[in-house]
Amino acid sequence: MPLVSSYHLIREARKQGKAIPAFNIHNLEMIQAVVQGAEEMNSPVIIQTTPGTLTHAGIEYVGVIVKQAALDVRIPIALHMDHCPSYETIVKCIRNGYTSVMIDGAHLPYEENVALVKRVVEMAHAVGIQVEGEIGKIAGVEDDMFVNELEAHLTDPEEARQFAEETGVDSLAVAIGTAHGMYEGEPHLDFARITKIDSLVEIPLVLHGASGVPDEQVRKAIELGMAKINIATELKDPMAKAIWHSLSHPKENDPRHYMGAGREAVKQVVKEKIRLCDTVNFADFFKGRQL
Ligand SMILES: [Zn+2]
Repeated sequence: MPLVSSYHLIREARKQGKAIPAFNIHNLEMIQAVVQGAEEMNSPVIIQTTPGTLTHAGIEYVGVIVKQAALDVRIPIALHMDHCPSYETIVKCIRNGYTSVMIDGAHLPYEENVALVKRVVEMAHAVGIQVEGEIGKIAGVEDDMFVNELEAHLTDPEEARQFAEETGVDSLAVAIGTAHGMYEGEPHLDFARITKIDSLVEIPLVLHGASGVPDEQVRKAIELGMAKINIATELKDPMAKAIWHSLSHPKENDPRHYMGAGREAVKQVVKEKIRLCDTVNFADFFKGRQL
């Protein structure tokens, strides 16, 4: 089916105590892995790209490939722009078929963040596109952005409420103890903070930096209100390992073999994460509904 908005997917997931898995992709094989994995699990899914991926692959290519991938299957698929700092890039994404966007002004002082996000919300809502904002600062490396432990700070629940109301965003990424990239030790999510934010903020919450967080903690975060779970690093690692393994045969030179092995490895993780988000067969719920 054609690409859908993530609006109803995320809201309905929230109502039913589930989360929509959102996978960061970087190339054709990763798109195929996500779509095939989601189709086999009959789960709705969000495919997302960071600005770095668009520099690598080209926004038009990504738009066309994901659109076609969605048309080939009968599950709802949304295409989302992740961590975009630029108004202009967001406009280009929308022109190329993206159905939701994240404007990331978390590096800006509060007032400037609000002003930028409001501007994006006004434009995007005018053409029916949903917007994710971020308040607080999530640690770690995402693309070429790096936030160290000292700069990172957890989301203040009252500030989150104010930010959501002032900007009109549709969903909100919050910093509650996760980090982008993989963890050195075991992360400990601040569940009390999630509960507090969820009680003050009407819109669904988004968990970034879920790679490497133990399943029980992710499950609990979903129970407490996280309705979209971002997964990036946990796809990159198995892909790289599978490709390394294929290339250990000295004569291997066929991209269809080693990239194919990478695709298969990514697909397995996609299926695991769909189970974790409890969205197996959730696509059935949306059949015949306006998305
Ligand atoms: Zn993120």
